[in-house]
Amino acid sequence: MAAIIDGKAISLQVKDELKKKVEELKEKGIQIQLAVIQVGDNPASAVYVRNKKKGCEYIGIGSLSYELAGDVTEEEVLSLIQELNGREDVNGILVQLPLPSHIDEDKVIKAIDPKKDVDGFHPESVGALCIGQPGFVSCTPAGVIQLLKRSGIEIEGKECVVLGRSNIVGKPMSILLLRENATVTIAHSRTKNLKEVTGRADILIAAVGRPKMITRDYVKEGAVVIDVGINRDENNKLCGDVDFEDVAPVCSAITPVPGGVGPMTVAMLLYNCVESIGLYS
Ligand code: NDP
Repeated sequence: MAAIIDGKAISLQVKDELKKKVEELKEKGIQIQLAVIQVGDNPASAVYVRNKKKGCEYIGIGSLSYELAGDVTEEEVLSLIQELNGREDVNGILVQLPLPSHIDEDKVIKAIDPKKDVDGFHPESVGALCIGQPGFVSCTPAGVIQLLKRSGIEIEGKECVVLGRSNIVGKPMSILLLRENATVTIAHSRTKNLKEVTGRADILIAAVGRPKMITRDYVKEGAVVIDVGINRDENNKLCGDVDFEDVAPVCSAITPVPGGVGPMTVAMLLYNCVESIGLYS
């Protein structure tokens, strides 16, 4: 049976380290504050935003909350971002995605000052990541790297397969693994012989958004399996992209859903907020 990688415990470790750093910064008179913008009343977004605010409170940084109506105009969102870009008491700006369809997400992401882009989605942050320069790294993939490292799983030289190529998970994930000297394959919906490709992986990262798609026939015996997916199954129960019950007996380590990658995303957002001081002050 596989070792269960406990994202809750590891995220707590990260948050406790950050809490200490925040105390040290406070002693030097430095305060950190995150501004969170939520548009509309998507219940999943509301849960994510609440967890992020709770995280800020836990490590001792401030959070400002902007809950905008679902019919707010794009101009209003952009003008709020401009205002926050200019505020010295705001270190990080987060716009909870997805946004309603009448608002252009790319435009909103680009409006955020890269120095406050704690989600790491701004083209400048992504570019810096690609060419190995300092900058904010997308939280979920950064969290996966921490899960692996803090579980004592070596990445260097390993065959890693990232299933999914989105801008917020798959692509930055593959670049981070490359930075750790893995041999990386990115698979997606047009990949041929998918099981053959994923079956080569020493470390398989599933970020497809398909409930329990990954069964044991996609997985090499003894592989490490990281499940990024957050989905609802046929009974409306939270589940990942991996069929945990089926895969756990054949792999060496696996993340559960919930309690795996999810808590790390929040921890790495908080990490980016604290890091903003070193990066840009
Ligand atoms: P997207 O829908 O943006 O991307 C999904 C990717 O999976 C695409 O690249 C797509 O390929 C690929 N894909 C879809 N179906 C298949 C298939 N049958 N075979 C092979 N590849 C396939 O999703 P995200 O990256 O935003 O999110 C992925 C999952 O991770 C979701 O469940 C999401 O909820 C979760 N998530 C979890 C987070 C966390 O904190 N734990 C944070 C962010 C996301 P193609 O490009 O060819 O269409």
